[in-house]
Amino acid sequence: MTVSTEDTAHLHDYPQSYFAATAHVAPFRPALEGVKQVDVCVIGGGYTGLSTALHGAERGLSVVLLEGRRIGWGASGLNGGQVMPGWSRTSRSLIQQFGEARARQLFALATEAVEQLWLRIGRHAIDCEANKGHLIAAATASDMEMLEAVVDCRSQLFGYGHSRLVDRETVARLTGSEAFHGGVLDAEGGHLHPLNLALGLARAAEGAGARLHENSRVVRLRPAGSRMLVETQRGKVLTKTVVLACGAQTGKLLNRVERRTGALTAFAAATEPLPKDVAATLVKDGLAVCDTRMSANYFHLSPDRRLLFGGGERFRLDPEEAPESIVRPRLESVYPHLAGVKLDYAWSGLVTVTSSRMPAIGREGPVFYADGYAGQGVALANLMGKLIVEAIGGECSRFELISHLPNLAVPGGRWLRLPIFAAIGALAALRETH
Ligand SMILES: Cc1cc2nc3c(=O)[nH]c(=O)nc-3n(C[C@H](O)[C@H](O)[C@H](O)COP(=O)(O)OP(=O)(O)OC[C@H]3O[C@@H](n4cnc5c(N)ncnc54)[C@H](O)[C@@H]3O)c2cc1C
Repeated sequence: MTVSTEDTAHLHDYPQSYFAATAHVAPFRPALEGVKQVDVCVIGGGYTGLSTALHGAERGLSVVLLEGRRIGWGASGLNGGQVMPGWSRTSRSLIQQFGEARARQLFALATEAVEQLWLRIGRHAIDCEANKGHLIAAATASDMEMLEAVVDCRSQLFGYGHSRLVDRETVARLTGSEAFHGGVLDAEGGHLHPLNLALGLARAAEGAGARLHENSRVVRLRPAGSRMLVETQRGKVLTKTVVLACGAQTGKLLNRVERRTGALTAFAAATEPLPKDVAATLVKDGLAVCDTRMSANYFHLSPDRRLLFGGGERFRLDPEEAPESIVRPRLESVYPHLAGVKLDYAWSGLVTVTSSRMPAIGREGPVFYADGYAGQGVALANLMGKLIVEAIGGECSRFELISHLPNLAVPGGRWLRLPIFAAIGALAALRETH
């Protein structure tokens, strides 16, 4: 259900985006007041936090989630909505770095992330325009060779049977663009409305017994006897376990995370609703498309026939540079016949990355954290919540499979770290494709 303009006044607290403008009505959850005692206090109401709260409450733990703004206010409410199987590393590079057995386990986790997401959406009847079908489009001829190796590796070594290669003509027909050299169709990937997913997960977590508080920014975190004390301006939570799920802000509460992650600004836009005959020249079959450029372009059509298009990253946001000026040239290079199309919405958000392009997930005593999904958090952040709850319950093996991955800690201030992370990531990606 999409709401009318009068109903959406409460949504104006969200950063402006197509998704904020078309989100369902959600109740405002009252700010934390007084003192609460729980098993788990989750900080952050994006996918990582919501998934932790949902899995934790389902396991019978008492859970309070504190969100500084609104549920889905961060990247989870404004991302491109693409559900992409795998990690942001190729299968071959996983094998090269971690060996075949470990790479197989890692790939199985990423596959589970996507399966679990679709299952959750179905089980809780989350109305988020979920649609299966994803295409990775080769931006260059040599990228097509890399994709061939990816499909071979996935099917032969990992037993993954959902993806298949498609040639240049097929990709041109499916995308309505001549910009690509072929691609990989994946039946398990897809797209969805990111903010409605977050709102649906919040409802599911509350249904399982978790208590959610908005407008409850955590300002302090400290040990208190055998427990942790989590403080907001107006309330306190005394808890056995804390889960930091603050996205790009996670490092502000735990320095260890700060040194392992960097945040890039990423951009997206939505055109005006397009006439039927124009929309018919664009992407077909409800597919989501993502290309292989190091800074990828990704797009799909919305139910009201807008082209939702994301792409472009910056270390530092130049206030003079409008998101539209970054997205438009990319959109027009894929669809030259849309030159000059009106963009009704253009926005930006923070994507967190690590040196390995694998998530930074770990724990320090009673404090767990997860961040750094390198633009693949729609599925992966939801899985990390599950792994954290397993680890809280003492089943640590799957959590440790990821928490033990080497992620370089980069010293120095935030502004020094960012270009270093980006350069490491870019170099690693370059090595994988060449
Ligand atoms: C423009 C853009 C496009 C993207 N496209 C895709 C895509 O197509 N597919 C994909 O898989 N991924 C994509 N991503 C990445 C994906 O959105 C993220 O990986 C994912 O949403 C991270 O979820 P999270 O819960 O870890 O963080 P967030 O969603 O950022 O949530 C963190 C929350 O913590 C809250 N918070 C912070 N500090 C505090 C505090 N002190 N106290 C209380 N609350 C606090 C914030 O308000 C926020 O709501 C994109 C990201 C961006 C920015």
